[in-house]
Amino acid sequence: MEVKGIMIVMKFGGTSVGDFERIKNVASIIKSNLNENPVIVVSALGGVTDNLISIANLSLTEDEVRAIFNKIIEKHHTTIEKLNIDEKIIQEDINRLNELVNKIITVKKTTSQDMDLLMSFGERMSSKILASYLSAIGIKALPYNAYDIGMITNSNFGNADILPYTYQKLKKNLSSVINKGVVPVITGFIGKSKDGSITTLGRGGSDYTASIIGAAMGASEIQIWTDVDGILTADPKIVKTAKSIDVVSYEEASELALSGAKVLHPKTILPAIEKNIPVRILNTFNPSHKGTLVLNRTAEKSRVVSITYKKHIVVISLSNRSMLKNELLKAASGVLSSNGIFEYSISASESSVSITIDEKEHTPALISDLKKIGNVESSINGVKVSIVGNDISFIPKISDLISSSLKGIKIEIMPSSESNINHSIVVTERQANSAVKRLHTAFFS
Ligand code: ASP
Repeated sequence: MEVKGIMIVMKFGGTSVGDFERIKNVASIIKSNLNENPVIVVSALGGVTDNLISIANLSLTEDEVRAIFNKIIEKHHTTIEKLNIDEKIIQEDINRLNELVNKIITVKKTTSQDMDLLMSFGERMSSKILASYLSAIGIKALPYNAYDIGMITNSNFGNADILPYTYQKLKKNLSSVINKGVVPVITGFIGKSKDGSITTLGRGGSDYTASIIGAAMGASEIQIWTDVDGILTADPKIVKTAKSIDVVSYEEASELALSGAKVLHPKTILPAIEKNIPVRILNTFNPSHKGTLVLNRTAEKSRVVSITYKKHIVVISLSNRSMLKNELLKAASGVLSSNGIFEYSISASESSVSITIDEKEHTPALISDLKKIGNVESSINGVKVSIVGNDISFIPKISDLISSSLKGIKIEIMPSSESNINHSIVVTERQANSAVKRLHTAFFS
């Protein structure tokens, strides 16, 4: 079954549904887009997923755990009361969550499966609240748990991925809902495995839900509504003059997500690329701003789009005088992949290679494997600052510009010119903000 006319997906993140006023604001944004057949995807109310996770913190006392549970319930009840809707809509979820909390308190341990079940309650409740408020203001809307309409995943708890027939099921179920004139309000972030266990798609995964649904439906646009005016030239907390960018390519957007920009979940862009669907990032706090449009290509060639940063980076230097540069590179890459590390950058000088990885991946097992190849030195707690943009290697004198703007800043690794979309440096945490500011000035003013 096909949807008659166009349709869009609108995803609202946690801060956009942070309290009753924000929810009212979201409802009015939805109302002004009703002629585009919106399918709504919603995150948990702001902060709720973090609170749910802390329920499983085994170092807390029973009283502390119950206090967190009560805080979560109170937040939802206050929101419901202020929106003047029926509090019974979330009673079933509260009962189930209460059972799980009791189990965690008694058994004093949680599996990754329990964690996903625990985290799922945020979206299960927020979707009911938003749908019920939409109905209260006269919009025909219904809440759906994504897994009840086809979001079926593998059993990779904490970071699940969809099974191939998910698209087909979502399309069939959602088309019939939309064709009845109903606005579906769907839980972001969660799915179910084939054996019926609730799974999650990774933190921040509601963006990914939105894009999976957009791809399944052949949507004309996937809108990610957040709390900034789209993708910016830098983090506005560091660079006050950061500006929003009108259009970025899919490649730029995914590179930005991978190099620390918080606006999009890194996997979001994949389903959109697959079906060539534009993704638009918009601001619920400033809805008239046109935000950033992510497309398969941009008109501009060779440009810097943004300066991003990623904290908690380790730089490992590996040297072995009796090995050739290429041999050393190959051996180091082999060790990284046999340790399950696939997100890293590596660059080589004549005598050593520098490997940049996330602190989480810096394990004793990795170091001991690298020591079998050569001499290893690690410098920890660095910040990776990235200059991202299409074809940046073709920007004349880019390396000179980077070095001259960073005079006086200690750089652990200089960019290798091998990547055409990202030149990164690693600096100390103390100098990171200054590096971001100076690079921003060099490229954007
Ligand atoms: N609520 C989930 C999280 O906080 C998913 C999301 O908001 O996208 O990670």
